[in-house]
Order: sequence, then structure tokens, then C-alpha cells
Amino acid sequence: MTDPFVVVGGDAAGLSAASKCKREDPDREVVVFEKGEWVSYAHCGMPYYVKGEVESLSDMLSLSPEQISERGIDLRRNHEVVAVDADAETVTVERGGERFEQPYGDLLVATGAHAVSDPIDGADLAGAFTIHSMDAAAALRAFLTPPAEIDPDEVDGAGEFLDRELVDEYAAREPPEAAAIVGGGYVGVEMAEAFSAHELDVHLFQRPERLLPPFGEAPAERVAETLRENGVTLHLDTEVDELVGDDGAVAGVVADGERIPVETAVVGIGIEPNTALLDGTGVELGVEGAVAIDDYGRTSRENIYAAGDCAEMRHTVTGEPDWVPLGLTANRAGRAIGQSVAGTPTPVGDIAGTAAVKAFEMECGRTGILDHERAREAGFDPVSETITAGSRSGYYPGNAETTVTLTADRGTGRLLGGSIAGEDRAAIRIDTLATALEGDTTVAELERLDLAYAPPFSPVWDPILVAAKVLNGTLD
Ligand SMILES: Cc1cc2nc3c(=O)[nH]c(=O)nc-3n(C[C@H](O)[C@H](O)[C@H](O)COP(=O)(O)OP(=O)(O)OC[C@H]3O[C@@H](n4cnc5c(N)ncnc54)[C@H](O)[C@@H]3O)c2cc1C
Repeated sequence: MTDPFVVVGGDAAGLSAASKCKREDPDREVVVFEKGEWVSYAHCGMPYYVKGEVESLSDMLSLSPEQISERGIDLRRNHEVVAVDADAETVTVERGGERFEQPYGDLLVATGAHAVSDPIDGADLAGAFTIHSMDAAAALRAFLTPPAEIDPDEVDGAGEFLDRELVDEYAAREPPEAAAIVGGGYVGVEMAEAFSAHELDVHLFQRPERLLPPFGEAPAERVAETLRENGVTLHLDTEVDELVGDDGAVAGVVADGERIPVETAVVGIGIEPNTALLDGTGVELGVEGAVAIDDYGRTSRENIYAAGDCAEMRHTVTGEPDWVPLGLTANRAGRAIGQSVAGTPTPVGDIAGTAAVKAFEMECGRTGILDHERAREAGFDPVSETITAGSRSGYYPGNAETTVTLTADRGTGRLLGGSIAGEDRAAIRIDTLATALEGDTTVAELERLDLAYAPPFSPVWDPILVAAKVLNGTLD
């Protein structure tokens, strides 16, 4: 009998693969090892849970352990895979201090990534968080909520998994009045909105001059303006030196030599792929230390696959490997690998780094290659245009200024990337550009797209068409 399909990691990529494999090949034994308590949870909802917009932690669970078992998957929580022997085709699993070997026929490494906080002194103080686990989100929300307002149901819905001690510890603390956010990427921006909802004095520190670097200049400016309008103090081009403590808890943030009193902090300065279990296996790593894979998610060692935040993917514009850890990428690659393991080879697909973020009412989307330096490195001659146009017919209520930036290759006219910002359904418009990138569309072709028009939805000339027209003129 074939050894089982062993999956390491019980979230987006891992469970998508396990479910798909089991559905396609019900006779195949599928074992999922998850080192923590939580499985099938939505990281992406955590800022909105902390904000209070998502009511309960349980709302962010997709499948319960029981539902996973009902699919015929052998789910083992609190089992950490600590080593892989690619020659013997076994993994070493640790549970409660004890170790055992598990043979595999196929192995999927879907271990995700971990938040980086080491460079910031004081990131280990009480009151400092990285928003990269459900327990941290629960503890932070308990910390932000005045004791009299804590509704036990909000956390108890997922009480089975919860680090109750941690949550109780924070619930017992005096709620903070001021917060520091270290890092102005999308998690930092989302957390600014979350802290503001709890009426904290919010300071957001960003080392580069701009927020949201992958989104480019125009969205960054509009988000910065919106954050300021909503009372967030931005410290751009500012390096945080350290978080300082009082009695073991965050009491201030020091940046450019100035100390600002805060009682809580979120450090969102980046993540790194979890690949330690592959040390010594000969599995090759690639961009940013993520696992190198081929079109089918196969690593350099036979029968070992990788997917999700721990793996690189091919970029649809450059054709080169890239690392853009996002939710759909993990789910889609996991599903494809599950299907391949079940007997139907299925490509994991390419990525364009398509992403969306909101800050209060401001929405942004981005896709492809926007940065000119990056475009040049990939062999293109980039040219960009930015326009602002209405989101609906000018006379129709709700019309809002929408800023579109498009970047194209001067020589071929090929669209390389784009970004969109605005308050009226701006973010989701990015999907038009993502689709265009997938088809190697030129700006001239983009300008001729037959996009929908009716006053409540769009002006006759959708902002994307306006931008294409302007950029096409520049290319001509
Ligand atoms: C705050 C936040 C907001 C986000 N918002 C968005 C968004 O809006 N849109 C978007 O596209 N993406 C978003 N993301 C990213 C998205 O959540 C990830 O891309 C996605 O969760 C990756 O799935 P994954 O399965 O690869 O990894 P994970 O979801 O991290 O799962 C990996 C699992 O592997 C387990 N594991 C690790 N090592 C081992 C081991 N050795 N043995 C056993 N188990 C192990 C971990 O405990 C974990 O449960 C957000 C992420 C965060 C943190």
C-alpha cells in the first residue's frame, strides 16, 4: 500500500491540498500535522476582529476539526514536524516532548511564514504584538476592551483552541490609551484603523518615505491623507529605535531619539518563510528563502511539494520566481497539489502580486510590476501615467475620485502593472488589470476593453479606460 500523503500545516495551503486529494482519491490516506491548536483559520480577518467589526473568533474559522475529520482527513493538532528525511521518505514529528517517525508517499510543506520582530528591541515586552496568530489577536482585543464591556462569547466561540491564560492576562490589564504601529505595510495600515476604532491615540512609524511600498506613490499618498484625516499620527521616513518598558510592559516607543508614551505596539515589519524543517534535506530554497518549486509545486526533492507562504511562485509578468505571500496563492496552489497527488497533474498557476487594502473609507488595489527599477531589472523599459477620474457618472450619488496608475513597457506597449485608489469600490476594480496581465494585454488593447457602463456603477469611460487612453497617448 502507498504511504500516506503527509501535509505539514493545517491552514490555507495544507488543508486545501488535503481536502482536494481526499475528494479526488478517497482511498488515499491523508495525514495533516499542525503544530498548534488552530486549524483552518483566517489570518486576513484578524485586524477586523481586533477592531470589533468581526464579532467572534469563531467567525474566522472555515472548517472545524470535526468537519476536517468527516472529509476523511487524519488531522493531528499539536503535532510539530521538526525534520524531514528525504532519502528515507519520513518526517520526524514531535508531540508533547515525544518524537516519532512518519513515512510519506508524498509530502506537502505548507508551513506558512512567521512575523519578524527581532530587529526591534522591546518587541518581547507585554503589550507588544505581531498580528500573526489568532491567540495574539484575541489577547489584543481583550486588552483594548474595557473589562466591563468584554463579552465572553466573542472569544468563547473558539474557546476550544484559545490560549485562555494569555487572553485573561490581557483582559485584566488597564486598556491602553496610545498605540505604536511599527511598519506601514498593509497589516500596519489595517491595524491603524483597528486601534482608532477603540479610540486610541495611534502613531504609525514607517522607515521608508511612503506607506504601502508595493502599491506605489498615488495610493500611498491617498492612504496617508485618509489616515491623517482620521487622527492617525504618521511618522514617515522614521526609524523606530526601540520599544521601552515599565515593569515588563510597553510604556513608550523611541524613534529618531524621541520617546512617545504608548502602552501597546504592533510590530509589522515583515515575515519570513518557515523552512527550518527542510534544513539538510537538499530541498532548494529560492527568493527570500522561500522554497523553490516548479509549475506543479514540486521541490527539488522527489515527492516533496511546497505551497503557500513558505514557497515561491512564478510571476506572470517577469516569468521569474517571486515571493508574494497571499491568501489566494496558498489556497490555489494547495488545491492544485492535492489534485496532482491524487493523480491529475495540475499547475499551481502564476501570481501577479494582486492585493487590496483599505484604510477607513479609502480602498486600494495593486497588481503586477509598478516599480520602475524592478521593471528595468526584468528587462522592460517602464513608463507610467497616473490619472484621476470619477467612479460613477458625475451626476450619480456616490461618485468618488478614483486614482489609477498604469505602468507599461515602452517598446511593446505591454501592460506591466497598475494600482487603483479611491473611496468607491476602487480596490476590486484591480481585478480587471490582473486579468489583463494574465493575457499579456497591451495598453492599446486595454483601452479597447468593453467594460460595463451604467451611472450607478461607472462613468461611460471607466477610470481604467481613461488611464489606458492617457498612457497609450504617451506611448505613441
Ligand atoms: C494580519 C494578516 C492579514 C492578512 N490579510 C490578507 C489579505 O487581506 N489578503 C491576502 O491575500 N492575504 C492576507 N494575509 C496573508 C494570508 O493570511 C496568508 O497568505 C495565508 O494564510 C497563507 O496560508 P498558508 O497555509 O501558506 O500559511 P498559514 O496560514 O500561516 O498556515 C501555516 C500553518 O502551518 C503550521 N506549521 C508551521 N510549521 C509547522 C511545523 N513544522 N509542523 C506543523 N505545523 C506547522 C502553522 O502553525 C500554521 O497553522 C494576511 C496575513 C496576516 C497575518
